[in-house]
Amino acid sequence: TQYVYRFGGGVSDGGAGDKNLLGGKGANLAEMASIGLPVPPGFTISTEMCTRYYEEGETFPDSVKAEVANGIAHIEGITGKRFGDAADPLLVSVRSGARVSMPGMMDTVLNLGLNDQTVQGLAATSGDDRFAWDSYRRFIQMYADVVLELDHGRFEEALEIAKEDRGFALDTELSAKDLQGLVAEYKALVEELWGKPFPQDVHDQLWGAVGAVFGSWQSERAKVYRRLNDIPGGWGTAVNVQAMVFGNMGETSATGVAFTRDPSTGERAYYGEFLINAQGEDVVAGIRTPQYLTLAARERAGAKPASMEEAMPEVYSQLAGVFDTLETHYRDMQDIEFTVERAKLWMLQTRSGKRTAKAALKIAVDMANEGLISTEEAILRVDPQALDQLLHPTLDPDAPRDVLTKGLPASPGAASGKAVFDSDTAEKRAAAGEAVILIRIETSPEDIHGMHAAKGILTARGGMTSHAAVVARGMGRPCVSGAGTLAINAREKMLRVGSREVREGDIVTIDGTTGEVMFGEVPTVQPELSGDFGTLMEWADAKRRLKVRTNAETPLDCRTARDFGAEGIGLCRTEHMFFEGARITAVRQMILAEDEAGRRAALEKLLPEQRSDFAEIFRVMAGLPVTIRLLDPPLHEFLPHEEAEFAEVAQAASVDVEVLKRRAAELHEFNPMLGHRGCRLGVTYPEIYEMQARAIFEAAVSLDEAPVPEIMIPLVATKRELELMKAVVDKAAEAVFAETGKRVDYLVGTMIELPRAALKAGEIAEVGAFFSFGTNDLTQTTLGVSRDDAARFLTSYVEKGIYAKDPFVSLDVEGVGELIALAAERGRKTRGDIKLGICGEHGGDPASIAFCEATGLDYVSASPYRVPIARLAAAQAAL
Ligand code: PEP
Ligand code: MG
Repeated sequence: TQYVYRFGGGVSDGGAGDKNLLGGKGANLAEMASIGLPVPPGFTISTEMCTRYYEEGETFPDSVKAEVANGIAHIEGITGKRFGDAADPLLVSVRSGARVSMPGMMDTVLNLGLNDQTVQGLAATSGDDRFAWDSYRRFIQMYADVVLELDHGRFEEALEIAKEDRGFALDTELSAKDLQGLVAEYKALVEELWGKPFPQDVHDQLWGAVGAVFGSWQSERAKVYRRLNDIPGGWGTAVNVQAMVFGNMGETSATGVAFTRDPSTGERAYYGEFLINAQGEDVVAGIRTPQYLTLAARERAGAKPASMEEAMPEVYSQLAGVFDTLETHYRDMQDIEFTVERAKLWMLQTRSGKRTAKAALKIAVDMANEGLISTEEAILRVDPQALDQLLHPTLDPDAPRDVLTKGLPASPGAASGKAVFDSDTAEKRAAAGEAVILIRIETSPEDIHGMHAAKGILTARGGMTSHAAVVARGMGRPCVSGAGTLAINAREKMLRVGSREVREGDIVTIDGTTGEVMFGEVPTVQPELSGDFGTLMEWADAKRRLKVRTNAETPLDCRTARDFGAEGIGLCRTEHMFFEGARITAVRQMILAEDEAGRRAALEKLLPEQRSDFAEIFRVMAGLPVTIRLLDPPLHEFLPHEEAEFAEVAQAASVDVEVLKRRAAELHEFNPMLGHRGCRLGVTYPEIYEMQARAIFEAAVSLDEAPVPEIMIPLVATKRELELMKAVVDKAAEAVFAETGKRVDYLVGTMIELPRAALKAGEIAEVGAFFSFGTNDLTQTTLGVSRDDAARFLTSYVEKGIYAKDPFVSLDVEGVGELIALAAERGRKTRGDIKLGICGEHGGDPASIAFCEATGLDYVSASPYRVPIARLAAAQAAL
């Protein structure tokens, strides 16, 4: 097996298609080299080597040693420098690169190849003593941290003391001699902490670094990141070894990161940051505040330091040319790292840029309009789940706000929550159901769990490409970074800004779109759904086959869903209406009645209320199908359970408190979800379903433009149940038609929520005109897992790979899915035109929607805010 793949100097052993083998970084370096972009020569050790490294007890086979030697020779041949040569040494960087980017997860070593001899050679060839000793100093510090895993605090301390001793504030004030002294101190520190001298052999250095990169794949923070992002541990990482280029060789050198379009807004404008006379990680680390790339961005921000466009116009225009080449080549927005060494541009990385949902949408629509991609590709480019970010409210522009300070608008959206100053507290409080804002001086990969738990993130340091900003955008969390006026004291769990204080637990609001940080909670408003969103949705609608309906029972939710593009109601849960206002009293009187006559008297009071509910929903949904489900939950859900409530409820329902208690006790069930509910209520108390059916028909005949009501019977197991219930509905319909002299069309169908119903679907379809898969209950009854108690153990099940995802969130396609496919097939065999839909939570989950498309269902039904997600997912499933 070949483990080493070269690139640069006209050679490319791999390309962009080799991400699995070379990692994202390595594959794209090879690709950039092959299209003639300036890439420092190097080689990639493949992910297969990482896997083998772990299989063979963290050792390297001899064959790979020879391949690496060839790789070094390749770099030497192009650069004309020799690895370990005291006169003109080759220095390399060693970086990790997995298949997908894992920001800040893996480690990097720069300036590798320096030792007590080669540092002299570097000084001579660069003509810069200070630069050479600073490079050596940085190398030891990085190597000690990343490879030897020594306490990096000790090295930082030594650096601070060196500056303090001389009265300096900045690293750059240290002279060559100062740095040489610091190198000696660092070496002594290594020996003290590691027990051995700092490795002087450059090959030992190289293999140490390669081993450390492979080792970092199994670090705790990498594991956490993989778990949060569903990245398999078996993928492994590649290692990239590449000739060093230096952004810190004086004022004509620089280093930077850039996006070919704005990753926050999607605007078609180069976007990025750079630092003159700085090395690689300085920009991302957020230690020095970087400068803008373009003149326009600098002016818009009202910032002083010259942009790259102004400071280095020639290199800038070359860079802009590279951006265009990359966008045309990759046909996507790119995220780039570059270095300028003495006015020469070098590309160090390119990859598809992470972007906010808003930017993803705009970039997809713009690129399709520019002719760079097709509309189908545009549809596939937007993650349906991410639309969530766009559909949710933003801060009300007219609401008063108590602004504490302003930072950078690092990740859009608004969030309010209690201030917390460390990630463990963020996680704990969030688990207890509190909304929290995580506030840190700057974040590091150790904060991932806290950032995930928080509603928003606020940092005092770091730019738009700092760790906090990049990770927050990826997670879709609002983030304000670099709010420099915040004096954060994490130990005291507080911050000061001017004369004001925020302590742990105080409510703050951040607006990641403007960068504002506010004291207290600020109200929000609904988002605008036209523009790019409307365009993409139109394209999606033209491509999808599945209809998208909504689960809604209030006129307001129906209106929201219609605005979001719902094409009907797939599930109106009538029991929710039973709790409204004074109705609950009539419902209780019905339950407490001793006989049918008593029940009918109470139902009489409910009838006009239900009728007007349905009329209002029919009006909002005019012209669209509306599926109404008759009463489903067990009756005891409507009775009080707390001793304190009994007296009041008894009085309101005009019954003796003892009667109420006795009835509540009678209705108690050990396993209510498998008890007296669904159509079992209609079988024992047909008058309840009769009243509901009457209300539906009376509402329908009262309107000029009534939809076709689809009356749905829940929790059916047998054909006979459905027959009985359909007879009740038909009788009510005929009665209303006779009384009013008006008729409307209607359908009677059933939910498929029980395995028996799925198996006997062929028979059930003789009676039911439609099936709606109630996959919440069908999952519960098929897996034998209570949907209300599953949370306690399902996470372990997912962690152990028993189920790939929580089956109540994403359909268990293999098990529950097989029942659905079988029921669909048997139902259709009996009744060719049977309507098939899904109304469990899965109706809004993209993976489940793909299954519904494949199974040929007619529609999915999702809660109002998930309707656009379902529309896009349905289009993607159809493509
Ligand atoms: C279902 O079971 O999937 C369903 C939609 O009904 P409910 O959630 O109301 O039980
Ligand atoms: Mg159900």
